[in-house]
Amino acid sequence: METTTGALLASGSKMTSGEMRWNPTLICVPIMGDSVGEMLVDTGKAKASGADLVEIRLDCLKNFSPHEDLKTIIKHCPLPTLFTYRPKWEGGQYEGDEKERLDVLRLAMELGADYIDVELQVALEFNNSIRGKKPEKCRVIVSSHNYQCTPSAEDLGNLVATIQATGADIVKFATTALDITDVARVFQITVHSQVPVIALVMGERGLISRILCAKFGGYLTFGTLESGIVSAPGQPTIRDLLDLYNFRQLGPDTKVFGIIGKPVGHSKSPILYNEAFKSAGFDGVYVHLLVDDVAKFFQTYSSSDFAGFSCTIPHKEAAVKICNEVDQVAKSIGAVNCIMRRSDGELFGCNTDYVGAISAIEDGLRGRENGSGIVGSPLSGKLFVVIGAGGAGKALAYGAKEKGARVAIANRTYERAKELADIVGADALTLADLNNFHPEDGMILANTTSIGMQPKVDETPISKDVLKYYSLVFDAVYTPKVTRLLREAEESGASTVSGLEMFIGQAYEQYERFTGLPAPKELFRKTMANY
Ligand code: NAP
Repeated sequence: METTTGALLASGSKMTSGEMRWNPTLICVPIMGDSVGEMLVDTGKAKASGADLVEIRLDCLKNFSPHEDLKTIIKHCPLPTLFTYRPKWEGGQYEGDEKERLDVLRLAMELGADYIDVELQVALEFNNSIRGKKPEKCRVIVSSHNYQCTPSAEDLGNLVATIQATGADIVKFATTALDITDVARVFQITVHSQVPVIALVMGERGLISRILCAKFGGYLTFGTLESGIVSAPGQPTIRDLLDLYNFRQLGPDTKVFGIIGKPVGHSKSPILYNEAFKSAGFDGVYVHLLVDDVAKFFQTYSSSDFAGFSCTIPHKEAAVKICNEVDQVAKSIGAVNCIMRRSDGELFGCNTDYVGAISAIEDGLRGRENGSGIVGSPLSGKLFVVIGAGGAGKALAYGAKEKGARVAIANRTYERAKELADIVGADALTLADLNNFHPEDGMILANTTSIGMQPKVDETPISKDVLKYYSLVFDAVYTPKVTRLLREAEESGASTVSGLEMFIGQAYEQYERFTGLPAPKELFRKTMANY
């Protein structure tokens, strides 16, 4: 998508003294307690967390006495209030009489609400009913929710015009992402809109709408107090918005980086890069990108705003095809794990995966053999068994071969093992072969499949009985840090190298390519030690 850097930014931010804030997009915490007391406790937590306002979801209250309860909430709430009384027919919990529901919203407005939310379906009538009576400070948000899909750009434009025509002070629409590219149409609306717009895309594929709205001029985003306690699918926590994504520091010129994968939510990369961007004062944000189709993703997000990408399971091989240029190593491996957009807009792909893993394995071997008498790489002449023939498997097989090892590749799909073995000059095995494969002692083993990764932490790719033939075992999986494979390898007397080493190693390389700055290695290690 093409965007203008002079994005129209929403007005109405409240700058707290001493707080560095580069965008006016507000953070609103949804408050969904079932009693007024519980709600007030949560409004206090929202303020302490750094929220700008709270959305009081009146439809969550049990035993609601409108006059008394609204007065209490408005009087004691430490933040500006947005009152929403969402009916069942728009995705909320209220099932009662419509007139009573709208009377409550009118009452909230009269009693001092800062914002009220009215559904598009009833907004025209509602806004006519309050004409001339609306207190100056109260703003009416007219909202529309689509739980099925995200309509076309034209339909979204028409929707905004329809909402505006009801007399809304603020336009709000929430759609559902069936694909991450749906979000681009929503950014197009916020960035060009002449009126304040809250535009969010629900679901995991819509997550970037909730973060990058600060860059693309959204009026407000929602951040929850607790993970999983959401008022709409896909809401991040306010902690993640502020601490993980550095939300306050995002602006029109912020460059977007991210990890492309499926699944991708488990990746720790955003923690690492955003922490490093913050410490270096680099104007960038690194996000999770749940991508189904890499080619479609790059066709859609084609502007220089989307500057650099890490690429993980299962897209590393497809990524080779979409790059305009691929470096020699990535070409030989047949997998790209890092993509940069050059100043001419073209995509350049490379592979930084194997560097960290191979050097950590070499260090592990040197440590085991006390470094004595080793000339050149300690991998030279060793039998190196790679489990897996995907992106990481190819990288490890290529790296080991480069260092002079003899390589064997075992894979679930034997044909893929054979294909890779033929390219790098190795032997091919099935996974079943592995348990009887021990032609010599002192072999090196590298698991590059996702076997043993959370949540299936009890799985392992090889029987413990044969681990005694290996002097060192590496596992690319790094969630958990110590996999069943590594635990059993250690019990069998092998040295072990965790996937964290590979992760940190490839991240150093990518960070330097993304930012042109030296990677803060100590910070990377410290950050990862906490996870
Ligand atoms: P990929 O290209 O999709 O390849 C996946 C490989 O795993 C294929 O060989 C596949 O076999 C095999 N596989 C998947 N599920 C399996 C199962 N249930 N049983 C047996 N084999 C299975 O993925 P990738 O990018 O190489 O990543 C693979 C793993 O390495 C992931 O867990 C990823 O998180 C990890 N990784 C870690 C780092 C790091 O920095 N530590 C870096 C890159 C990757 P088939 O060919 O039969 O499908």
